[in-house]
Amino acid sequence: AALYGIRDWGGGFFDLAENGDVTVKARFNGKEVAVSLMEIVAGIEERGHGMPVLLRVENLLDARIALLNETFRAAIAKAGYRGEYRGVFPVKVNQQAHVIEEIIRFGAPYGHGLEAGSKAELVLALAALHEDALLICNGYKDQEFIDLGLWARKLGYRCFFVIESPSELPIILERSRALGIRPLIGARVKVSAKVGGLWTETSGDRSSFGLSTTQLIAVVDTLKSEGMLDTLQLLHCHLGSQIPDIQDIRIGVQEACRYYADLVREGAPMAYLDLGGGLAVDYMGARANHVHSQNYSLDEYCSDIVEVVMTTLDPQEIAHPHIVTESGRATVAYASMLLFNVLDVMHFEAAPLPEAPPEGAHELVKNLFAVMGNLAAADLQESYNDALYYRDEIRDLFKRGQVNLRERSLAENVFLSIAQHIAARLDALAKIPTGLSDLRESLADIYYGNFSVFQSLPDTWAIGQVFPVVPLHRHDERPTREGIISDLTCDCDGKLDAFIAGSGERKTLPLHPLRPEEEYYLGVFLMGAYQETLGDLHNLFGDTHVISVRINENGGFDVIKEISGDTIADVLSYVEYNPQTLFDGFRDTAEAAVRKGKITVGERQRILEDFSASLRGYTYYER
Ligand code: PLP
Repeated sequence: AALYGIRDWGGGFFDLAENGDVTVKARFNGKEVAVSLMEIVAGIEERGHGMPVLLRVENLLDARIALLNETFRAAIAKAGYRGEYRGVFPVKVNQQAHVIEEIIRFGAPYGHGLEAGSKAELVLALAALHEDALLICNGYKDQEFIDLGLWARKLGYRCFFVIESPSELPIILERSRALGIRPLIGARVKVSAKVGGLWTETSGDRSSFGLSTTQLIAVVDTLKSEGMLDTLQLLHCHLGSQIPDIQDIRIGVQEACRYYADLVREGAPMAYLDLGGGLAVDYMGARANHVHSQNYSLDEYCSDIVEVVMTTLDPQEIAHPHIVTESGRATVAYASMLLFNVLDVMHFEAAPLPEAPPEGAHELVKNLFAVMGNLAAADLQESYNDALYYRDEIRDLFKRGQVNLRERSLAENVFLSIAQHIAARLDALAKIPTGLSDLRESLADIYYGNFSVFQSLPDTWAIGQVFPVVPLHRHDERPTREGIISDLTCDCDGKLDAFIAGSGERKTLPLHPLRPEEEYYLGVFLMGAYQETLGDLHNLFGDTHVISVRINENGGFDVIKEISGDTIADVLSYVEYNPQTLFDGFRDTAEAAVRKGKITVGERQRILEDFSASLRGYTYYER
């Protein structure tokens, strides 16, 4: 567990069993139940779903919602705060119906609501939500959006229009008059405090969302002159996602409170302070101020927010608002993991070599052998430089046709052998020479994983997000290899080559050698936030199967929902092919081949059956 940091980043949800399997854990009235992920993989495969699979464990989603609400409640009780916590889940972080349904179902006793940023998200939120939960509408709103939100008001929903830009207010006022429904309005402000992290363009003056101070005053004045100031009840700000430093959060909340207080003084009946998202997930488990980590606990997050709001508002004698947060990542990240098998491994290892260069070998090959023979005594950096020089010279000669394939192959092999010897001795050095710092990575294995980075883990490619990657089994055995992971796409960006390592990143992952006739399974963890709908169809690898399970008290698991991944026909239809037309066209080709005598009618039938089976098949590698 220590090698992969499972207990550091696992949030208490993941551990290892004695047999070396990774387990996922749930609690039942204080009793902990752990189920092996390998057992779940076996159960999924027995049900006919091949890898890769996106696994959701519902208990984890429930546990996170409970924890967020309970921790805020505890902080509020402890501080004697006189408002409530009202969480909302931002739909964009994971829109999948099953996730939203579970958040609504489990979150109901906490009044956990939803945040919608588009018409589509509003529609799904309206269909799912209970009346007493908050429904926060962010994003650009046209008349259709606003009408729908107003009708929701009429039905009794606590639906807030958060004004992101000044142009929205006139439409809201006009539609409110037209339908005779009074809205609930929030104002989104640009907090000038700039926060650190990978996702922070949402804060600061240049943020594309939120009102400037001048615009905010204009909104207040318009509402006053329209006799509508009583509809302004919420202040909204969002500092960014995955904020690693609690100090940034404190400063941002303090500034938001200043806005809140002045809106109260302007006469608005303010009741809610919505602090947006930003609560980080410790993907590294390092508890550090690092883009993939966080230097605070959930306890600290909640109690610091409560404390800052109190200490800022109390001296001004302003009533405590209900605190709203829109935590997305921290709510859903833990519950989903991508499980896949490894198809093959490429090793960068020298084949057995003769002691001495063969007779008639090229001078440069002889030089390489000499470098190899001298390794024990020579300086490592110097030997490496020499070997690299001779190898590159051979490559040049090969290009010019002056050295043949066998000679080049021998030279490459000697070079590889030298590089490996040098790499093996680096550990013993007090300081690794700069010129050799990447040598080990350049010799690392490539494990070919049955998945697509672009479909399943788009943020690793787009913004360098690092997720924990861990073998699902064999933890009772030391991983003796170091590798990176390449996906199925024919794209050099389709790889995982940054991994967590304590408080930093590493370029390779410790892995086990493959065994003949045995699958090797890996899991990418904490990937329930943002990845599912951001993913794309690069190389036409489609949606993976999605299996939701619930761990039960008996130490087993129940399959709650199975959604089959895209078939080849599905992905082809997404790019405007008609599978039936494709089949008909191919049948004509086969029939023409029969006419020309190239194939028999029987062969035609077999070919067409295979074609048809392919259309119905999974887009990933099938064993
Ligand atoms: N609220 C708003 C307005 C956002 O833009 C976002 C995402 O960036 C969130 C909430 C969710 O943030 P997080 O996933 O950090 O909780």
